Amino acid sequence: MTTKRLYYEDAYTTRFKARIVERVRVERGAAVATAIVLDKSYFYPTSGGQPFDKGAINDVPVLDVTIREADGAVLHWIATGDIWSDDIVADIDWGRRFDHMQQHTGQHILSQAFMRVANAETLSFHLSDETVTIDLETTAVQPEHIEQAEYLANQVVWQNRPVHIRAASAEEAQQLPLRKIPAGRDGRLRLIEIEDFDISACGGTHVGATGEVGLIKIVKLGRAGANLRVEFCCGRRALQDYRQKNSVVNRLTAVLTTSAGEVVDSVTRLQDEVKETRRQIKRQQNSLLQLEANSLLAQGTKKNATTIVSRVYADSESDVSHLRTLASRLTKDGNVVALLGLAGSKCMLIFSRSAAAPGDMNQLIKPSLQMLGSASGGGTAEMAQGGGPAADVERVEQAVARAERLLLGQL
Ligand SMILES: [Zn+2]
Repeated sequence: MTTKRLYYEDAYTTRFKARIVERVRVERGAAVATAIVLDKSYFYPTSGGQPFDKGAINDVPVLDVTIREADGAVLHWIATGDIWSDDIVADIDWGRRFDHMQQHTGQHILSQAFMRVANAETLSFHLSDETVTIDLETTAVQPEHIEQAEYLANQVVWQNRPVHIRAASAEEAQQLPLRKIPAGRDGRLRLIEIEDFDISACGGTHVGATGEVGLIKIVKLGRAGANLRVEFCCGRRALQDYRQKNSVVNRLTAVLTTSAGEVVDSVTRLQDEVKETRRQIKRQQNSLLQLEANSLLAQGTKKNATTIVSRVYADSESDVSHLRTLASRLTKDGNVVALLGLAGSKCMLIFSRSAAAPGDMNQLIKPSLQMLGSASGGGTAEMAQGGGPAADVERVEQAVARAERLLLGQL
């Protein structure tokens, strides 16, 4: 049975009496979902880009509202098993309904504003709990049109123009300046007219006068295929958006001790400074590393043409990355063998040699790792490494000294 849709005529009633004419039960996995069909309803079902109303029937929450395509019945999906009485009282969540009215009416105004400013037709509209968007023909919209359309739309809000609901036949609609005539629609059309500004065929819920929209603000532009997607917000959503952004700007101006207009320049300057500081640190780390390498080479044990550098660090003065960089710096060229170790909660050995230096690091490291209780580790003749459990500096030095003795014996 078709439900009489009372919201078509009146978007402001939030409490009404009606009669249950059908109960629909659908198995959804293990659960059974129940929908109530009423003889008449103010509940808006999801359609035309606008989501459904929430609320309650006899205090049982309504979770979803849909249309049954076969006969146009409005299905009120309820939270619990059933509502036993056939005569019911229903309540509509006014906060959600009014939000949808503000966004939807705002969309009509903004779509007409884009027509007037850029001759850009709205191809689609989408309203969710988080965002409201319209898709426009990209080719027609220039950057300056965005602010012009936004300003025109807000002027229409400030003029507080009445919003009329009227019905027309398809033939009558042909004579009216409709923004968009729905294709292949027979019978009566429901027209929403924003006085002397816009007429469009629409089944949604709208405010009674444009002033109730409050504010229309475009917040983001994006692409949707070949079209321009305009994200905007109206009324309470615009207030929330302003609150959030105002709070962000206030915190930024406090942290940066600057004015709102200077925030971007200020952050850009900070980013440049950080980049330059990082470059300086890198340069200084390089020269420190070179000094350290030179000092180790000067103190190294020399036999024949080979210099053996052995050094163990506590984990408070070095780390794996420092050890690796130092090893590669020491053995980059010349005839050097570097036997480096790291002591602490985890120990580590890195043995490395110059291409021209003698010795097989992979063979050399194994007895030392064994001394440290490490079962894993190895590498190539030129570079080998391995880690083990906790060991103090003295123990790691003994392991490195053993390798040095073995190597000296081979030279
Ligand atoms: Zn509408």
